Amino acid sequence: MTMAQKKTEKEHADIIDGKAIAKKLRESIKRHVDVLVSDHKIMPGLAVVLVGDDPASGIYVNNKEKAAKEAGMRSYVHRLPKSASQDEVLKLVQKLNLDAKVNGILVQMPLPKQIDSATVLKAIDPLKDVDGLHIENMGRLMADMPGLVPCTPMGCIILIKSVVQNLTGLHAVVIGRSHLVGKPVAQLLLRENCTVTTCHSRTPNIAHVAREADILVVAVGKAHLVKKDWVKPGAIVIDVGINRMDDGKITGDVDFDDVSKVAGHITPVPGGAGPMTIACLLGNTVAAACRQNELTVPHIG
Ligand code: NAP
Repeated sequence: MTMAQKKTEKEHADIIDGKAIAKKLRESIKRHVDVLVSDHKIMPGLAVVLVGDDPASGIYVNNKEKAAKEAGMRSYVHRLPKSASQDEVLKLVQKLNLDAKVNGILVQMPLPKQIDSATVLKAIDPLKDVDGLHIENMGRLMADMPGLVPCTPMGCIILIKSVVQNLTGLHAVVIGRSHLVGKPVAQLLLRENCTVTTCHSRTPNIAHVAREADILVVAVGKAHLVKKDWVKPGAIVIDVGINRMDDGKITGDVDFDDVSKVAGHITPVPGGAGPMTIACLLGNTVAAACRQNELTVPHIG
């Protein structure tokens, strides 16, 4: 029975509960941390660099700090003023690169405009690049070599695999081609043997392309862009978008109520891809700590 046939028997899509899946993942990561501490005397350390006072970035950094501590890791937050120079940020990154207690480094984006993000990302030791955004890790992903994979894309794959384990031969359509989400998600889906189509702002007739998808991943940043006539009945829909509405509420790129009428499985916003990002960041920190200590990297996810 195809996913589309199954769907005709249901009225509404099943919700993929990212919050619950992320919680289980974090519990499993904590168990790996406990083993690293008890058997190898290694307590993984995550350093987060926050430049400026952007309120959203401040919340993300606090959440990462709390999650790292809950997982039994060391957490270091370095806050620099909005006026910090590129040199100051690079010096801090160099210091963290050399600090043996720090296994993972994350520089919270966006950075103030006097600082070139690409230069800062390139300065992070690729072995500690737990955001997976260093060009070396990007290249490793392209070349199917082991490396650190960006967190949100990794989280998307875990969410999809919570529905179908074997993705071979499925048609995946990714809307969005950013370095942060769209491109790495497409690459990870290729790795899973999907046939992958990537759409972006210049793609004509996206609705038509999207309707071909067994798996639809949307990472655009436009509230409710995707309607039910963009979605094949029974499809798995992963909504990465985070859009703050005038009333302060957060919503996704997918019109959840409308698309739920046709999709087989769908992630909500909030509570879908978002919680997975932090869980995968913790997973990457454990992976980085293992690699740096020449230990086998556990399978996480
Ligand atoms: P981004 O760098 O702004 O990229 C957006 C992509 O969407 C671009 O490739 C752009 O195409 C494409 N696009 C823009 N308008 C479009 C349209 N009308 N139709 C089709 N494609 C269109 O954004 P991002 O960093 O990938 O983030 C995307 C969304 O995910 C944002 O809402 C962000 O907040 C959210 N996000 C969530 C998480 C999480 O943890 N859940 C993590 C990261 C990002 P072009 O390349 O042609 O311009």
